[in-house]
This record gives sequence, C-alpha cells and structure tokens, in this order.
Amino acid sequence: MIREMGSSSKEYEFLSEIGLSSHNLGNYVGGKWLGNGPLVSTLNPANNQPIAQVVEASLEDYEQGLKACEEAAKVWMQVPAPKRGDIVRQIGDALRSKLDFLGRLLSLEMGKILAEGIGEVQEVIDMCDFAVGLSRQLNGSVIPSERPNHMMLEMWNPLGIVGVITAFNFPCAVLGWNACIALVCGNCVVWKGAPTTPLITIAMTKLVAEVLEKNHLPGAIFTAMCGGAEIGEAIAKDTRIPLVSFTGSSKVGLTVQQTVSARSGKTLLELSGNNAIIVMDDADIQLAARSVLFAAVGTAGQRCTTCRRLLLHESVYDKVLEQLLTSYKQVKIGDPLEKGTLLGPLHTPESKKNFEKGIEVIKSQGGKVLTGGKAVEGEGNFVEPTIIEISSDAAVVKEELFAPVLYALKFKTFEEAVAINNSVPQGLSSSIFTRSPENIFKWIGPMGSDCGIVNVNIPTNGAEIGGAFGGEKATGGGREAGSDSWKQYMRRSTCTINYGNELPLAQGINFG
Ligand code: NAD
Repeated sequence: MIREMGSSSKEYEFLSEIGLSSHNLGNYVGGKWLGNGPLVSTLNPANNQPIAQVVEASLEDYEQGLKACEEAAKVWMQVPAPKRGDIVRQIGDALRSKLDFLGRLLSLEMGKILAEGIGEVQEVIDMCDFAVGLSRQLNGSVIPSERPNHMMLEMWNPLGIVGVITAFNFPCAVLGWNACIALVCGNCVVWKGAPTTPLITIAMTKLVAEVLEKNHLPGAIFTAMCGGAEIGEAIAKDTRIPLVSFTGSSKVGLTVQQTVSARSGKTLLELSGNNAIIVMDDADIQLAARSVLFAAVGTAGQRCTTCRRLLLHESVYDKVLEQLLTSYKQVKIGDPLEKGTLLGPLHTPESKKNFEKGIEVIKSQGGKVLTGGKAVEGEGNFVEPTIIEISSDAAVVKEELFAPVLYALKFKTFEEAVAINNSVPQGLSSSIFTRSPENIFKWIGPMGSDCGIVNVNIPTNGAEIGGAFGGEKATGGGREAGSDSWKQYMRRSTCTINYGNELPLAQGINFG
C-alpha cells in the first residue's frame, strides 16, 4: 500500500492496483526486481509533492541485466514468430485489464490530462494488436537468380537485443511503438525510461514480467531500468546492443547517435519537432481554429507533434486569431486528474522556468504576447497557454520551446507558406488546411512539406499507429510503429542457394 504520501495520500491508493508502493525497486534485471543505484523521489507535477520513492539502477545492475539478456536472446529468437506474437497479445490483454489505473498513473506522474493518459495506454494496446498480426507477416522474398539451379532468398532474422531509451512526455506509448515490434521480431528489449517517470516504467514492466513468468520464459527477454544519463550512455556504448532506439531532444539524440555509430551500431532516432499548421485563404476556418487549439495546447505543448507555428494567410489572419483568442480564454487550467481540465501542468519546475526564460527571449526578439505569456503563481508547474505574434525570421521561432507557446505568422502565397514550414532545422509534423486539390497535391509532393508527417485538414498531432511515425532533418530520420518500420528491428540476409550442386566456372584452375 502507498503510505506517507503527503497531503493527498488517498489519491494515490490506486497505485497498489498496479504493483506500486511507497518504496519501489526500479529495475527488472534477469527476471528479478532489484536496485543498487540512487534512491529518488518521483513528483506530482501538479503540486511538486513526492508520490513515491524509486531505487534506480547502478552500473553493476546494468551489467547483470545485459548478461542475462544476452542469454535470454538465444532463447527468444528461436521461439517461432507467431508464438512471440501470442506473448505480445497477452501483454496487450494485461494492459487492457489495467487501462484506467495506468492512465491515471500517467496523468499523475507525467501531468497530462486523464483522457490523454488513458489514450496513451490505449495506444500501447493498439500496438500490441498490430504486432500480433505482424508476427505472421515478417515475410522475406524469393529473387530470380541469374545462375542455373540457384535460388536467391531474402531472409529476415532478429538482431538480438534492442535498446530503447524514452522521453518523459510519452513515457509508455514510445515504449509500445518500439517494444511490441522488437519483441515479435525476436529481439530482447532493454528499456530505460525517463528519470522523472519511473513509476510508469515500473508499472508497465510488471505487467510484461507477469506475462513472461506465466509462460515460463526468461524474464530477461524484457529488461527495464530506471535511471538517467549514466544508464543511457551505457546502452549507447554497449556493443551487445546492435540497435538503440532513442526518443528525446535533438541535442542528446545527436550524442547518442555519435556514440552508437562509433561502435558501428544502428540508431533509430525520434527527436525534437517544430511543427507548423498552414491555414490557406480557402480553409474551413472553424475546423482549422479548433484543430490548432487541440494541437497547440494539448499535453501542455509537450508533444513532439505540438503545433508551435501557425502560418496564416493574410486574408484570414485576423479571423483565425480572433477565434483562437476567444477559445484560449476558455481553456481550464488545473489538476490533470480533474474532470474538465484541458491544460495540466508542465512536467517539472525546470520546464516552468524554461517557459519563463523563453518568453523573455521571445520578447527580446520582437515577439508580441497576444494572450498568456505568464507562469501561474502557486504550487505546481502551471503556465498560461500563449499566443505570440512574431516574424518567421526571428531565431527563437526555429527552436523547440517545450511549452504551450504558439507563434502566429503571416504569409501571402502557398509557396511562401511552404518555404516557412520547411525553414526550420526540425522536420517532424506539418498540416495544411485548404479545400484546394491543387494545394493538397503540391503539399504532399516533392516541392511540398519536408516533414515525416504531412497532414491535410487535421492537426499536426494525433498520428495513427498504422503509419510509420517519425521525422526528417534534426528530428532524426527514424520511423517507428506501423507500415514497414519492423524492418529496422531485423537484419536482412541475402541468401544464394545452389541446389543443383553445380561447380562454379573456374577456368584454368585445377582443384586436384
Ligand atoms: P531528453 O533528451 O532530455 O531525454 C530523453 C532520454 O534520454 C531520457 O531517458 C534521458 O534520461 C536520456 N538521456 C539523457 N542524457 C543521455 C545521454 N547522455 N545518453 C543517453 N541517454 C540520455 O528529452 P526529454 O526532455 O525527456 O523529452 C522531450 C524531447 O523529446 C522533446 O525534444 C521532444 O520533441 C522529443 N520527443 C520526440 C518524439 C518523436 O517521436 N520525435 C517523441 C517524444 C518526445
């Protein structure tokens, strides 16, 4: 049971339903829960009070985990893929049975509103379903050989171990995109969640661990550790991990990429976004305005796909802004677990300080605050949803400020809007609101958006798992979840088989 949890301990009672207590060992290593690293407290972003304590991993715990994982990999890669799919199906069922509790935990520890917390867990369940089907479709191919009585095959085999390092803002969905696919592809998973969301890491892992144990499989197939940069760096350096999937800031992602490349490993990077919505003169203004609100304010602006730049055609500029300013005033800021709240807190006190610093920089670069612009006084990391009028040339517009801050920018032509969309270092998500087929096809074509996600008449966020998710340029180039993303989690062998036992032509050589 959860005890001594400050003023609102009753609120936290549900945590015992998902295997959490006031003091938790944060690492599932070799099928056992242990911890010899630092003891940390995880905080509720709505009041910065401790929720529970967690023992993180030491480097010795890490090493123990990897040794067990290496052994488990030999077992897991030989389990037939559809059987691996059945294990992932059981993980999905386990998540389904705890959906509400896990969603509440997400809301409590990360700070997103309850509907988003539940939605995020549902996304992992959907990924499990997707991966179950995929487990029967990891198809190779037969390629015509130019030699008689030879056959060429393309085979897909597991990599062995996949490292997954995740960010605080999607503490379980990103695991789902990676782990569900990695597991059906026959890989063991080594997961390090964000240091500020350890309870989610533990709760998710407990459900996976139960499924593995029930099926008499080695627990080390899924190895999870709580900790920060030290454990992340250990994963990046480890030659036993052929693929490291990293989700987080472009700055840290680049370091991880360099470390992994230096040992000839592969990375799958999901990094920062700086996403734009373009509203053309022929757009459905109401649809656009609602979508912008959802995309800019949802998850308190802490989605990688949050809309940060609003590009408005000069003829609709005033109208769209007027609608947005009216709706921004109605956004209810408050406890993310409370019904009716639309905007929860930022994740940490540091995020709140970054918001305040960011507003100062914006003003110093000529930005004019149209609404918001201030942190909310009192406990918790709350800030006001903010709209800024600014030039698209301002340096600050090129950066990702991880908060609900939207830049309103004016343009005259479609070409100018596309150029502004593509003018930032990041290339994750982008949307256009228009009724013109010409604009739509130009937008998705070679001279259109340079992003990984290119939408029409829907916001920048809310990607479906069936598609490949990820972005270009400083966003890292990785693709996760659906479509053919699974190929990154396997190694491809081109196999040539001589079934006629014919000798190759070797003129002039006598083999005796
Ligand atoms: P972050 O880069 O600070 O941390 C991400 C992870 O990296 C954490 O687990 C952290 O402990 C770990 N880490 C830190 N230093 C490390 C090191 N030296 N070596 C290895 N690992 C290390 O990011 P964050 O603040 O947790 O997350 C927010 C960022 O993530 C935003 O930029 C957001 O856009 C991005 N993000 C991108 C996607 C996407 O799919 N493109 C999805 C979610 C979040």
